[in-house]
Amino acid sequence: MELNNHFLDLKDSYLFSTVARKVREYQASHPGVKVYKLSIGDVTLPLAPVVIEAMHKAVDEMGKKETFRGYGPELGYDFLREKIQAYYKRLPVDLDLDEIIVSDGAKSDLGNILDIMSPNNKVLIPDPVYPAYVDVNIMAGRKIDTCAGNAENGFKPMPNDSYKADVIYICSPNNPTGAVYTKDELKAWVDYANKQNALIIFDAAYEAFVQDKSLPHSIFEIEGARTCALEICSFSKTAGFTGTRCGYTIVPKELKFNGISANALWNRRQSTKFNGTPYIIQRAAEAVFTDEGQKQIQANLEYYRENARIIKNALVEKGIYCVGGENSPYIWLKCPNGMKSWEFFDKLLNEKGVVGTPGAGFGENGEGFFRLTAFGDRETTIEAVKRITEIL
Ligand code: PLP
Repeated sequence: MELNNHFLDLKDSYLFSTVARKVREYQASHPGVKVYKLSIGDVTLPLAPVVIEAMHKAVDEMGKKETFRGYGPELGYDFLREKIQAYYKRLPVDLDLDEIIVSDGAKSDLGNILDIMSPNNKVLIPDPVYPAYVDVNIMAGRKIDTCAGNAENGFKPMPNDSYKADVIYICSPNNPTGAVYTKDELKAWVDYANKQNALIIFDAAYEAFVQDKSLPHSIFEIEGARTCALEICSFSKTAGFTGTRCGYTIVPKELKFNGISANALWNRRQSTKFNGTPYIIQRAAEAVFTDEGQKQIQANLEYYRENARIIKNALVEKGIYCVGGENSPYIWLKCPNGMKSWEFFDKLLNEKGVVGTPGAGFGENGEGFFRLTAFGDRETTIEAVKRITEIL
């Protein structure tokens, strides 16, 4: 018996535990002093009333013999898939129902999708980025190359013929930088992937924050993407489902490698290893797409967007280099006076009682940068921004 020793190659994830420890220590030595947190990547507003109503109704159905549901379709109920299909149509992107596979969230799909790929694939991951991409590939023993996001490319690394990747991760709007690829920039990645016979895993978890009409919400808005990309998305940030758990992955029928259909393999993988997202949760997700649901969801998103504007405007006024914040809930700023990420973290916490996330925790190119989130409440955001600008 041998355990998977690739797990030993994982770096301990110190980022959020270290942030939490430092905040605890600060609070212990400053009893009664309020701490202003702009560090979390989790939503803070409650679920929309339509979502709650839909869940109550579904719970009642589960309590009656006539309407009780047992195992559902592994790939998702059609009532939800049809709503997702219509949601993409507005872009406009046409999808077949069986290209939409419902899940319990983007993180599961990001990890599980590796099941349908050869362990020999070489993987290209942007740096800085959402840490799960790196960790799931390390667990599977895959070789990882990184492409650097930096101030020169606006934290949007572009393809380069020196990369020899089989699988490419793209997250747009990006966590942690908030950078959003334009259609032309995504087209360059799509052309590169088609030329290299590579797969793009496009993470659209923050697509609902895109407001600029010229920017893409989905990689399938780009010509040629159906032969090289799959897209993973989630209700977590769109509709506050971080604790409710629902997501979906789009795998086009044209996505084939050596004549093998990725859609067929993903269907088979999910049908074998997953018994579907709970009925109650799929009804909750369905409610997001009703007219009233969209109105309520947009009101919540607008609340976060206003937070983002407050943060971004204050930083710009101070002449601080930053990206994100307009089409994303994250603002990524350069630490002042050449400070390192953790140095700036300590200064902000100790001098102003404000907490953010050190960029160095998202990859080596994040060193010297800092992430602020728009997911806090308004009062905290305003006070934290006032305090941050005092030391910039
Ligand atoms: N992808 C990105 C880029 C994220 O930032 C997150 C969560 O923060 C996820 C995926 C996970 O989403 P879910 O809650 O659907 O698992």
